[in-house]
Amino acid sequence: MSMRPEDILALTPSGICCKPGSFHIDPTRPVERALITHAHSDHARAGHGAVLATQETLDLMRLRYGDGFAGTTQAIGYGERVKLGNAEVTFHPAGHVLGSAQIAVVADGLRVVASGDYKNVADPTCAPFELVPCDVFITEATFALPVFRHGDPDEQIAKLLHSVALFPERAHLVGAYSLGKAQRLIALLRKVGYEAPVYLHGAMEKITSYYAGRGVALGELRAVRGASKADLTGTIAICPPGALNDVWTRRFPEPVAAFASGWMRVRARARQHGVELPLVISDHADWGGLIATIAATGAGEIWVTHGQEDALVHWCVTRGLKARPLDIVGYGDEDDDGDEAQG
Ligand SMILES: [Zn+2]
Ligand SMILES: [Zn+2]
Repeated sequence: MSMRPEDILALTPSGICCKPGSFHIDPTRPVERALITHAHSDHARAGHGAVLATQETLDLMRLRYGDGFAGTTQAIGYGERVKLGNAEVTFHPAGHVLGSAQIAVVADGLRVVASGDYKNVADPTCAPFELVPCDVFITEATFALPVFRHGDPDEQIAKLLHSVALFPERAHLVGAYSLGKAQRLIALLRKVGYEAPVYLHGAMEKITSYYAGRGVALGELRAVRGASKADLTGTIAICPPGALNDVWTRRFPEPVAAFASGWMRVRARARQHGVELPLVISDHADWGGLIATIAATGAGEIWVTHGQEDALVHWCVTRGLKARPLDIVGYGDEDDDGDEAQG
């Protein structure tokens, strides 16, 4: 009897479980052995017995949760093979944030790829997405509606710099998620030659200096803490999206509120967040990216997790692919997939 995909990976109350390998992928509850795709808090939780992840993901988890975040840890490089029980696993770049990985599980000749969150767009802060041919592809669906076309991030950076030039007496405050988006924004600014110091909200400092230590070129960074209103005139400062409507913003001279997110494609969202300057920059694949990736994997069967599952499942079925939603409870608390929750 040969194995079916459901015998390799199955949904349990703790998340996706590999019975033949005795491990879970991105479990939402504490488990004995966890394989983690990336360090966003909805995928990477503290309290597992053993964690297998890339070195960057382990480091970022340690930065956020402290040394005791797991019983034991093991680092795995991209492309390295590890045998776990009757399964073999490899990690491949997901292009989402530093250290992010898709996890390929092979058992009985069948290959299932759990992609975690991913984007097939160049990002100066992480390794580019790698296409992994497979039999079953597990995809996210954060922006899985045709209306979501993220476009060129450089155009959004140009929009930001145009506004900075237009209002030299004001400060530009850009809301961005503190792991991944903030650092990508700074790297994109540097790429087009913006050399002025970029100011950081305190919540961004540790992770951003970790990125810089891993060789991501971020230029001169300064803490907002301790800077005067005069210091902040004409500058760009990055803060968590939640800080945009906080008393914290009073230290800035007439701040222009910007927000970098895939959701900024929807004008009502920008208004709802009180955002004057919406920047459509996402660390997730847009609709075109999702369907192109699904087709390119050659997978005959697609499982869809967190986001707008219905439209993507429907698209797959019309293309003759087997597809079903995986209703995982507990994803989407951080980064772009968390915007829904913030309302
Ligand atoms: Zn993520
Ligand atoms: Zn996610």
